[in-house]
Amino acid sequence: MRCPVCGHPESKVVDSRPSDEFNSIRRRRECLKCGNRFTTYERLGDNPIIVVKSDGTTQVFDREKLYRGISIACAKRPNIPNEKKAEIIDDIEAELRAAGRLEIKSKDLGDIVLEHLRGLDDVAYIRFASVYKDFQTVEEFREALEGLQ
Ligand SMILES: [Zn+2]
Repeated sequence: MRCPVCGHPESKVVDSRPSDEFNSIRRRRECLKCGNRFTTYERLGDNPIIVVKSDGTTQVFDREKLYRGISIACAKRPNIPNEKKAEIIDDIEAELRAAGRLEIKSKDLGDIVLEHLRGLDDVAYIRFASVYKDFQTVEEFREALEGLQ
């Protein structure tokens, strides 16, 4: 979604709401380059799921990227074969679509992945949590471990 003023390709969403028009979402966006605010209308349907990062920038839900993230967390963990990783991603995408959620915060998406890893493999769970939640301290690690028990 390019800025209509300067043509910069990156913008962040400052507000999203369903529009009066059936099955569409009105978004207020702010250009990351010039700060211009503009409105877009995005149709739902087969639309991609949008992931909103903590800084407000957005990305299309990317199965490949999530697969890589899960694969890294599951390295050398035979409990979770490749088919299972793909299945987790299928389940998550289906859950989001079934709930009509076409926009999700990256943090919430991370939490959903963790729910799926919980009980499958504790090591993969902690590895994924440490990346997704961006652990900075041992204390945060300890809290995640306690969350498993
Ligand atoms: Zn701009």
